[in-house]
Amino acid sequence: MTNKQPMLSAQEALDFLLGAVKPVSETEVLATIDATGRVLAEDQRSQLDVPPMDNTQMDGYAVRAADCASGSAALKVSQRIPAGHVGQALQAGTAARIFTGALIPEGADAVVMQEQCAFDDASGQVTVHHAPRSGEWVRRRGEDIQAGTTILERGTRLRAQELGLVASVGLATLPVLRRVKVGVFFTGDELAMPGEPLRPGAIYNSNRFVLRGLLQQLGCEVTDLGNVPDSREATRAALRTAAAGNDLIITSGGVSVGEEDHVKPAVEAEGRLNLWQIAIKPGKPLAFGEVRRDGQSSPAFFIGLPGNPVSSFITFLIFVRPFILALQGATAVAPKRYPMRADFDWTKPDRRNEFLRVRINDRQGLELFPNQGSGVLTSTVWGDGIIDNPPGQAISAGDTVHFIPFSELLH
Ligand code: AMP
Ligand code: MG
Repeated sequence: MTNKQPMLSAQEALDFLLGAVKPVSETEVLATIDATGRVLAEDQRSQLDVPPMDNTQMDGYAVRAADCASGSAALKVSQRIPAGHVGQALQAGTAARIFTGALIPEGADAVVMQEQCAFDDASGQVTVHHAPRSGEWVRRRGEDIQAGTTILERGTRLRAQELGLVASVGLATLPVLRRVKVGVFFTGDELAMPGEPLRPGAIYNSNRFVLRGLLQQLGCEVTDLGNVPDSREATRAALRTAAAGNDLIITSGGVSVGEEDHVKPAVEAEGRLNLWQIAIKPGKPLAFGEVRRDGQSSPAFFIGLPGNPVSSFITFLIFVRPFILALQGATAVAPKRYPMRADFDWTKPDRRNEFLRVRINDRQGLELFPNQGSGVLTSTVWGDGIIDNPPGQAISAGDTVHFIPFSELLH
């Protein structure tokens, strides 16, 4: 492929990437408590009803609703039932003192909250100043989950709440897909590491911190080969090392077509490459291909990101994140977008699809970061997310735009 190709739209590039993914297939069984961030390998069913039995949602008195129809019934308190204990069947004309989570005794069909009751020590009776409907403050057996139902489907990424749901039906272990392994390196003779002095012409390698953090948030196993000089041989050697034992290689920088951009020829020598000009801003060049792995029949995937810090951040979020999620076997890979009001004018839109860094203001509108330059990392820290602005689309204050919050992209 040459750089004379027509530019791809963001959607075309994403469709191509997702069409090429082969999700990992190896599974392992983990303790549920250790499965955060992993992808479920099989559908999970509940063997139980949740709650397992009818129980009370309130501290109060368990009664027969029919006994309390008058609105001021005096009932003998026959028993006390704390959570975790089983009471006796409730006789007509009596009430049971009961505490949140305790089983409703047989015979009772409602709970009256303690604030609507007056207990008299001397007589051992409670006066119930409320006529409950049958079922009031009762959590029904199976109202959350019924035995036999599928609670989670394979391909679900396990967040805290999914693990809670799994635990609530008593599943102590879960089959999950193995972690995706990613090898990463950073091209550029100008790169120095924080902690080193900055010699003339050098800049600090911020992409290393951004990309490492993004990969870790996605639960990848990362092999970081660090900074690689701008030479064909060094780049080829780094590719070979990164390919061994990894599913995916990600690089930063060197994917333009200048003489110092060695990634394209190096990948072509070690595998296959498509270098795309994608009609997005920031982030125009993106390389996608594969690198041979010694002794393995299948190659490692390769994605080369542009060097500019905001470009590599945005292209990661828009292209690499869904690709990695799909590689992990996750079924939901697209971020949600929200219609929001722009509180600014954008009068000179680019012909490319722009991803503008914006912040939510205190009027629930969007404010634009004044410097949208592809090197200005401050915009990514200041912002709450990005506007996905179609090619050539001017924005006037008051217009509705497509907003993707960072919270949709950074987990
Ligand atoms: P490149 O894509 O290699 O042409 O780099 C584009 C711009 O991004 C240049 O100004 C580089 O100095 C800068 N750059 C490249 N790699 C990094 C990095 N790892 N961290 C910060 N800036 C970078
Ligand atoms: Mg470079």
